[in-house]
Amino acid sequence: MQLTHRTTGAPVTAAYWTDHAWLGTHVEPGVTLEIADGRIAGVRTGVGTPPPGATVLRGLTLPGLANTHSHAFHRALRATVQVGSGTFWTWRELMYRTASRLTPDTYFDLARATYAEMALAGITAVGEFHYLHHAPGGTPYADPNAMGEALIAAAAETGIRITLLDTAYLAAGFGEQPNRHQLRFSDTTAEAWAERASLLKGGDHALIGAAIHSVRAVPADQLATVVRWAQERSAPLHVHLSEQTAENDACRAAHGRTPTRLLADHGVLGPRTTGIHNTHLTEADIALLGSSATGTCMCPTTERDLADGIGPAAALQKAGSPLSLGSDSHAVIDLFEEARAMELNERLRTHVRGHWTAAALIRAASADGHAALGRPDAGVLEPGAPADLTTVALDSVRTAGPVPRLAAEAAVFAASAADVRHTVVAGRHIVRDGRHTRVEDVPRALARAVAALHD
Ligand SMILES: [Zn+2]
Repeated sequence: MQLTHRTTGAPVTAAYWTDHAWLGTHVEPGVTLEIADGRIAGVRTGVGTPPPGATVLRGLTLPGLANTHSHAFHRALRATVQVGSGTFWTWRELMYRTASRLTPDTYFDLARATYAEMALAGITAVGEFHYLHHAPGGTPYADPNAMGEALIAAAAETGIRITLLDTAYLAAGFGEQPNRHQLRFSDTTAEAWAERASLLKGGDHALIGAAIHSVRAVPADQLATVVRWAQERSAPLHVHLSEQTAENDACRAAHGRTPTRLLADHGVLGPRTTGIHNTHLTEADIALLGSSATGTCMCPTTERDLADGIGPAAALQKAGSPLSLGSDSHAVIDLFEEARAMELNERLRTHVRGHWTAAALIRAASADGHAALGRPDAGVLEPGAPADLTTVALDSVRTAGPVPRLAAEAAVFAASAADVRHTVVAGRHIVRDGRHTRVEDVPRALARAVAALHD
């Protein structure tokens, strides 16, 4: 049987049938998703059995997950940074050591394996906050964007979408030149950053956005240059914000105001801007972020791993800041864990349960994350949206048991990345039955790429 688009009659190039679909407010049993040109062309409900020719997705099919904040190379740090004690700042020294060993080739290998791990975790789009631009010592590569291009190519090989958030990183701190590790990150001026970033070309799967590493790393009088670059392109603009109290203290000492206030005063805040972490904020900061509709990306597994603290996500959302989620340092890559950690952190802090419903957490892990990455049409199972899907098993040891109408609660509060059965991007399977369709042996690819960076 040839399926046709419900309204236009155009032929449908593929159809998926799922026994349970998340339709934004509830779990709908028996749904056919018709796909044309990589987008959802029709959603048919009340379909009790798979139509002939439809590909079956058994489990709970969600809109594809968005990993809004990633540093691909941090994947090489997993486990190695769990020995000993310390703070964010001692962790950073270990991170710099790994960064110093990367070349465009090893960066590609590591990113390819890491993005394949993301695909297996149901992630269909990643926001790569990329600041490792140059060769050791700060010498530009022959292709000045060799490192960024390696990330775009790695995402293409694994089938996931990428928003490359090319990051301006110019200083070690307020009034401080970059240290020897940071020379690789620096373009020396925001103008030079803009010139290099302008050479990046996106593609079907790749959007180009901008990032300000932090108020520490971009001098205040150069913030406007990055803002203008992003505005001219209607591109997303991300910034690490108040992850550490030391950053707040240094900013107050240098500028007599909080990092949020400094960003507001230089035109950085707005609906296309996302603050990453937003951990240590004043009431006035929360009001500034909310009233400007600046987004907040929480990275709870990293924030707890680095002993950062618990950000005021609920207050930010209430003030008007949309919430998204990221695996950041990749201590683990599991968007279900990020989503529930945001809720569970708030429970620990307030001694009250139920700050976000499963529906609200799915929205943060999908639609609002995609919007923060420059794809406001993604993250819903509706006609016109990109055909990006994540199917979670409902018959694993973690998810078996609840009645089907509670499948979303099972996914958000009990599933792990290992329960993802299928990942579909632009209507094409990139993970089928728990196996990546393009990267044959993802654990082996990870082991090799990580080993190449360690002694
Ligand atoms: Zn980060």
